[in-house]
Amino acid sequence: MIEILRTTKQFEIFRKIYDDKSVGFVPTMGNLHKGHLSLTKESLRNNDLTIVSIFVNPKQFCPGEDFEKYPRTLGEDTAKLKELFRSENLIDSNKRLAIFAPESIQEIYPPGFSTVISLPSLSNKLCGLNRPGHFDGVSTVVFSLFSLVRPHKAYFGQKDYQQYLIIKKMIEDLRLNIQIVPMPIKRDTDDLAFSSRNQYLTKEERIDALELPRTLSEIKNIIKTNVWPIAKMKADNLIKEKLTSKKWEYLKILDGLSLEEPQEGTYTIGIFGSIKLGSTRLIDNKLVEIKYA
Ligand code: AMP
Repeated sequence: MIEILRTTKQFEIFRKIYDDKSVGFVPTMGNLHKGHLSLTKESLRNNDLTIVSIFVNPKQFCPGEDFEKYPRTLGEDTAKLKELFRSENLIDSNKRLAIFAPESIQEIYPPGFSTVISLPSLSNKLCGLNRPGHFDGVSTVVFSLFSLVRPHKAYFGQKDYQQYLIIKKMIEDLRLNIQIVPMPIKRDTDDLAFSSRNQYLTKEERIDALELPRTLSEIKNIIKTNVWPIAKMKADNLIKEKLTSKKWEYLKILDGLSLEEPQEGTYTIGIFGSIKLGSTRLIDNKLVEIKYA
């Protein structure tokens, strides 16, 4: 059975029924694809109640970004979730799936809302540099949704790796009693990560977009097959060469846990890239373990 809740009041009443059940939460902006569905599937497997929120959060869009044109497809999203629930053979089970899709922005941000949750040390890099305020918008909405949903587990895709680390740290710092579950990136057959923004791409841009996962794989391969710091020197050379093309917003290798420059003792490297094709910005990342001599 799938419930669709459109107001916070409705949601609070519904949520109380499940006070003694395990609750998994998948926050999204909708326009669901295989990435979102993989998170939902994992939550369905591990919780009595799964809540998928669908809210295009204005606070995480910067001026001039695609807030207005971001695809809003609640009907199709609902159909996809129903199909997932059916295909997982859950219709006759005790499992429940609910969609929380606030009908207006005021449901989340009532007049006078004035709190900002900010984690500057993790936010002021990578995507945060070109999108000032973006991560404050993300952490603020996620905190507000956490308060409402009261989940035991929250599922986040590693596609938005910086976002995952920020929410993880917020949970730790504010002692929220929530287990964050990172989920692997779902990719199309050509290795491009699924994203709601892929549909903005023209045919040519879709082909050009493949340079993003391809370059990350090239760098990953360098780090896998060379010992540190030779691997870093080789990777840095390739990055320098790639960044001569204007389409790159950033391409960086950082410590995969702290997002700081890799140091002696760094074990996992994150390779982070963002390219802009026309007005569409895509991000991706790959993780790799360092080999010391
Ligand atoms: P969004 O709707 O883009 O805000 O994403 C909602 C959640 O889905 C976030 O935790 C994302 O990291 C996750 N997600 C988006 N794309 C993918 C993907 N290709 N693979 C896995 N998770 C994803």
